[in-house]
Amino acid sequence: MRLIFKQYTHLTRKFSCQASNMSIKSIKARQIFDSRGNPTVEVDLVTDFGGLFRAAVPSGASTGIYEALELRDGEKNNYHGKGVLKAVENINGAIAPELIKQKFDVTQQKEIDQFMLKLDGTENKSKFGANAILGVSLAVCKAGAAKKGVPLYKHIADLAGNSNIILPVPAFNVINGGSHAGNKLAMQEFMILPTGATSFTEAMKIGSEVYHHLKKVILKKFGLDATAVGDEGGFAPNILDNKEGLVLIQEAIANAGYAGKVDIGMDVAASEFFKDNKYDLDFKNPNSDKSQWISGDQLTDIYQGFIKEFPIVSIEDPFDQDHWEAWSKITAATSIQIVGDDLTVTNPKRIQTAVEKKACNCLLLKVNQIGSVTESIEAHLLAKKNGWGTMVSHRSGETEDTFIADLVVGLSTGQIKTGAPCRSERLAKYNQILRIEEELGAAAKYAGKSFRFPG
Ligand SMILES: [Mg+2]
Repeated sequence: MRLIFKQYTHLTRKFSCQASNMSIKSIKARQIFDSRGNPTVEVDLVTDFGGLFRAAVPSGASTGIYEALELRDGEKNNYHGKGVLKAVENINGAIAPELIKQKFDVTQQKEIDQFMLKLDGTENKSKFGANAILGVSLAVCKAGAAKKGVPLYKHIADLAGNSNIILPVPAFNVINGGSHAGNKLAMQEFMILPTGATSFTEAMKIGSEVYHHLKKVILKKFGLDATAVGDEGGFAPNILDNKEGLVLIQEAIANAGYAGKVDIGMDVAASEFFKDNKYDLDFKNPNSDKSQWISGDQLTDIYQGFIKEFPIVSIEDPFDQDHWEAWSKITAATSIQIVGDDLTVTNPKRIQTAVEKKACNCLLLKVNQIGSVTESIEAHLLAKKNGWGTMVSHRSGETEDTFIADLVVGLSTGQIKTGAPCRSERLAKYNQILRIEEELGAAAKYAGKSFRFPG
């Protein structure tokens, strides 16, 4: 990425006098595969100047019902219905020729995104698919940075009006449950946040060391089978008790010698186990005992117990995406970060409702939930304006594309979750932030304890 950028800036210098306007020469989409082996969209964008800018679209497993539409072919005999050839064709056959005709400069991110939204004409991008529009939008953004001769994060910072660059606290998802893992654990993610580090590099060191200590702890307690990893690189021990996940993590942090330097975050993804107005913490068992399903209030008590006992600083999707009342109650009752993901789906209307209901105090920002770079920036700015934090997020189905690393730095939201320090589609993002930190040198600032409201 950086290498490509360096090559590109070299070209920029060489030819800048010849290229007054850098419009799009060609756009070619293709079907590639994500980290789960499912098809996804990749876009190559070539400018009339000659640079090639490539972007790939991620895909989620626990998708909120209010997300922008991810267009899948739905042909049972091909890729289990998950092909994206229609989305690819929508780019190659419709979006590309129309966009090229407009002769936009690639730095005109907003105009280009708005043009695509208008061309689609639906509220949830169901004509072309959010995966089609986003692929083009991401590639345009990369081309725009190159046109300006600046790093991608800097271009994004400009687009968002941000002049104070801050590196995020990484939230490493080290124990996987929920729909991301084949174990019994209902709650989806148990994360460690090295908020006590002094730099992103040190945060990576802490994350990596705690992760390997956690592996030893799990190996000792549950045997080798339990050290297999889930979709996001975290371990997936076959435990049923959610509290045990926290106990394991606390032990690993202590063994690594980082007690006090590492906080804990969770993504419960509670919509996945909300049934008949109750929460089923044994939802992966088809014969789960209905008498054990619990109410929102009982689930709140569990969270409050966790917060008391462990250094928990953030809980995402503690309740079902339409269980507003429970959301508002817990947000009022605690000082920790309550993150909306399935609740808000990076959608301005849902965010606005959540603001009015005081349902949470942090936006989880996923570019493919909303489907364009411009709308992602706007969603963050809307959250910020209302006094919320923003956590930038990957999806469980990822690719080698590192766009969100530059996004989190460009927006300087102070926090990113992109999996465990394990599996290269996850590390690709963390590694890119290491490169950015290196490039910033003495100017690099790490969010640390102020990750919710950096700067
Ligand atoms: Mg989530």
